[in-house]
Amino acid sequence: MTAILGAGISGLSAGYYALKKGLSSPVTIYETSNRIGGWIRSERFDADGYVFEAGPRTIRPKGAAASNTLELIEEVGLAEQVYPIYSNHPAARNRMIYAKGKLNMLPSDLTGVLRRVDPFSKPLFLAGFKDLLTGRTKTILDDESMYSFVRRRFGQEIADYAVSAMICGICAGDAKQISVKFLMKRLFEIEQKHGGVIKGLLLETIQKQKREKDPQKPAEGLVKKAKLENWSIYSICGGLQTLPNKIAQVLTENQVNICTGVKCEEIVFDNNTVKLMVDGQSQRVDQIISSIPCYKLAEHVSEQHPELSKQLAAIPFVDVAVINIRFKNPNLQKHNAFGFLVPPIENLPILGVIFDSCCFDMENNTVLTVMMGGAWFDKWFGSDPSEEKLLTTALKYVKDILDICEPPDSYKVHHLRKCIPQYVVGHQKRIDAIKHYIQANKLPLGLCGSSYDGVGVNDVILSAKLCVGDLMNRC
Ligand SMILES: Cc1cc2nc3c(=O)[nH]c(=O)nc-3n(C[C@H](O)[C@H](O)[C@H](O)COP(=O)(O)OP(=O)(O)OC[C@H]3O[C@@H](n4cnc5c(N)ncnc54)[C@H](O)[C@@H]3O)c2cc1C
Repeated sequence: MTAILGAGISGLSAGYYALKKGLSSPVTIYETSNRIGGWIRSERFDADGYVFEAGPRTIRPKGAAASNTLELIEEVGLAEQVYPIYSNHPAARNRMIYAKGKLNMLPSDLTGVLRRVDPFSKPLFLAGFKDLLTGRTKTILDDESMYSFVRRRFGQEIADYAVSAMICGICAGDAKQISVKFLMKRLFEIEQKHGGVIKGLLLETIQKQKREKDPQKPAEGLVKKAKLENWSIYSICGGLQTLPNKIAQVLTENQVNICTGVKCEEIVFDNNTVKLMVDGQSQRVDQIISSIPCYKLAEHVSEQHPELSKQLAAIPFVDVAVINIRFKNPNLQKHNAFGFLVPPIENLPILGVIFDSCCFDMENNTVLTVMMGGAWFDKWFGSDPSEEKLLTTALKYVKDILDICEPPDSYKVHHLRKCIPQYVVGHQKRIDAIKHYIQANKLPLGLCGSSYDGVGVNDVILSAKLCVGDLMNRC
């Protein structure tokens, strides 16, 4: 018997891979809330033709983890429902940052890199020269912050305006705290090895050409389609919630139990099995997969494994306020773009705004999503702000920056507590220690989800697949 904690996208995916690979059945998924999907939460307003996304809204199609998601989507029968944004679409090409009092379009081609564009004081290609002229670090570094790495190699402006804004957009975090390994692990390792990023990349490319090429699996099905059609990002018709719903349907049709509204209270590892306390009832299973946030798992194992619990609880999370706004007028938005990000140096409570109705067809509506807080949530809003305060702040910046002054026709305010883990400097070492503890103590426990090896939808689905594979090898 296998128990899975959490019915977010990673727990449901773990259920899917457990079923597919034949991990010890029956499989039961326990979910505390009364719904499935976790942070994926789409609210459809079919009569008016728009969707509000409280959490993620787009998935990237490129890279190994992305191909895995596309395969899953195809296997569960959702290929026809994929809603791609092609690379030549304005939402794919046009990304902006709000800096120095105005919106600035980031370069989307070579000409934008060769000439100076606001808010930068020099053409961006000159940052490459800085990297070429800067020597190696005095000692070999094991880790450092994204900000420090980029400032060292490419200069302060790139760190302040480009990379800090990007980190806000990806994990609502502070680039001065987030580990370089979060997004630039390979570049960091190359730099440490060769003493420069560009120099290292050139050397590695030459060496790679000399080596025999690894035979790559030819792209098939949806992965091939995404490549041929040059998708930039995609969603699913009806909103991303369609994906967890469909996986849950496949699971229940195949006798995987999904129990919602139940609370796992304690996990006790005992003689190669696991005793679970769920809603006051004791259950015994062969193994357990935890897809719940690590700080919650920490509570469940604290009595029996305090050392593991301490490591799990040490990974920080941030709150994000997500404000969905809809206007019945489709012509309010002057900018045809994905949206804009606000770098922390601007010292504003908003992280960015997504122009949903530029990305996807929202019929006769303008739909925007304002993201606020993140690593600076407490500074701006305290621990328990009212809905009104969050809404008023969001509308103020929509007015100031986008010049949309009228009140919205509908809106939704979400305060997402502890929703995104922060992979701060030293995160990789902590994860290695957690995995080592589980192995050394032979715990029949698998970990997946956003706390460990990547915070995006693709990452957590892949983490579920790898977790099931690892448990199969250990059984
Ligand atoms: C605002 C926001 C925007 C994002 N945008 C994007 C994006 O555009 N693209 C992208 O790729 N990623 C994005 N992400 C990241 C993405 O949403 C997450 O990586 C992903 O949803 C995490 O899924 P999960 O299953 O690992 O965790 P969760 O969604 O957190 O699911 C965990 C589940 O476990 C349940 N649970 C908790 N405790 C227990 C317990 N004790 N027992 C049983 N169940 C329990 C919870 O109720 C929850 O349903 C975004 C995240 C946020 C918050």
